[in-house]
Amino acid sequence: MPVTATVKVELLTRAGSRCEFCGADSDLDGFVVAPRDESAADSCVLLCGTCCVQLQTPKSLDVNHWRCLSDAVWNENRAVKVLAWRVLRCLKGQAWANELLEQIYLDEDLQEWASSAPLIAADDSSDEVSAKPTVDSNGAVLENGDAVCIIKDLNVKGTTFTAKRGTIVRNIRLTSNPEHVEGRVNGTVIVLKTCFLKKST
Ligand SMILES: [Zn+2]
Repeated sequence: MPVTATVKVELLTRAGSRCEFCGADSDLDGFVVAPRDESAADSCVLLCGTCCVQLQTPKSLDVNHWRCLSDAVWNENRAVKVLAWRVLRCLKGQAWANELLEQIYLDEDLQEWASSAPLIAADDSSDEVSAKPTVDSNGAVLENGDAVCIIKDLNVKGTTFTAKRGTIVRNIRLTSNPEHVEGRVNGTVIVLKTCFLKKST
C-alpha cells in the first residue's frame, strides 16, 4: 500500500526526512500501520529501505538492526509507537526487546490498535479461518436445541421413509459441518441438510 504524495510530504516534514525507526536518510517511504489506511499521515510511519525490507519478512528480522527501537519507542507519534511495539513483539526472546516492551506505554486505544493486526497484515491471512455458523435456508442461525421445519419432502438415505415437507424437527444438534444438522424424524436420528430447513419457533 503506497502512501499518497501528500501523506509522504507530511511524513517527511514530521520526521525531518529521516527514518523514524533507525534515522537513516535514504530510500524513505511511508509504511502504513494496519488496519488503518494510507490516507492519513498519522496512520503511517516514515521508514528507510532497510527497515521496510525487514518488515516485509518478519521471520528474518536482523536483531541488531532493531536495537534502533530503543529510541523509536519514545517517539511521540502514535503510529511509530504501535509499529515499534509490533516489531518488538516479533523479537521477543531478546532480553533487551522484552525490557523495552515493558517500558513502552500504550494507552487503551493504542493497545487496541497495536494488537489488532500482525506486523505484516498479509503474513497470517491463512492462520485464522473463522468458523462458519450453521444457518437455515433463510440464513437464520441455528443452534443446538432449536426446532426446524422441513421445507421439502426428503428421501432419507438408508431408510424407507420420506421426511415430509412441513415436519417439525425439535431439539436439533449441530454437526461439524455447517451444512448439516442432526435431528430425530420418525424416531430415527438423521442428518438433515440445512438448505432444506427453516427455523421454527
Ligand atoms: Zn530505518
